Amino acid sequence: MNPFRLLLLGAPGAGKGTITKKLRSVVPNLQSIASGDLLRQEIQQKSKLGQIASKYISRGMLIPDDLIISLVTGHIGKLSKDEVARSWLLDGFPRTLHQAIALDSVLGPRGQNLTSVIELDVPESAILGRIETRYVHVPSGRIYNSSYNPPKVRGKDDVTGEPLEKRSDDNEQTIIKRLNDYNTKVKPLREYYKEKGLLTTVRGDTSDIIFPQVVEHLEKL
Ligand code: AMP
Repeated sequence: MNPFRLLLLGAPGAGKGTITKKLRSVVPNLQSIASGDLLRQEIQQKSKLGQIASKYISRGMLIPDDLIISLVTGHIGKLSKDEVARSWLLDGFPRTLHQAIALDSVLGPRGQNLTSVIELDVPESAILGRIETRYVHVPSGRIYNSSYNPPKVRGKDDVTGEPLEKRSDDNEQTIIKRLNDYNTKVKPLREYYKEKGLLTTVRGDTSDIIFPQVVEHLEKL
């Protein structure tokens, strides 16, 4: 597989984190930047940005573009030359057209434009069924699910043994708002990346069905 610079698009709960984890098993040294993980780490560290972000996140609202743009592009800027030359992916950013344009203005001059955008298209019924049983290890972003992907020890991260958390925004009311928001905001993003010839959509109810399609696509790049 050639090195890729990938954006994973998909509704909340579509399995972007799980696909990232599975990709790590076939792409050594894959770097991933998940905007939601970065924000949750800021909240855990009680930083100023974290305090602002938590108000938006707990209400299922997107945080303002300027804050998230500087957070994520700052992290991309911290990747070493070697890391940039290898494969990396973005999860959860960009989420608006404004963010996508800002991202391109950072990547373009460095000759690091995205090489592919894959949208995970998962039926809402499947998403709603599993999101309430989702748990996260905040420092690493590792995701578990108490029904079909439980940790080895209940409530603890497999790697560090640290406690898992339920996300404050993983409740039915907030999810419905986030899904509606996603469906509205993703339309101009899809158009933007379609016009650039970068967009591919993969469909399925579970990550086990979606993952082989993602790999097949990346192998063709
Ligand atoms: P996620 O883990 O990707 O579902 O993100 C959790 C929450 O963080 C979202 O519901 C938003 O409130 C916020 N967030 C994450 N990424 C972004 C983004 N690119 N733009 C604005 N808000 C974001």
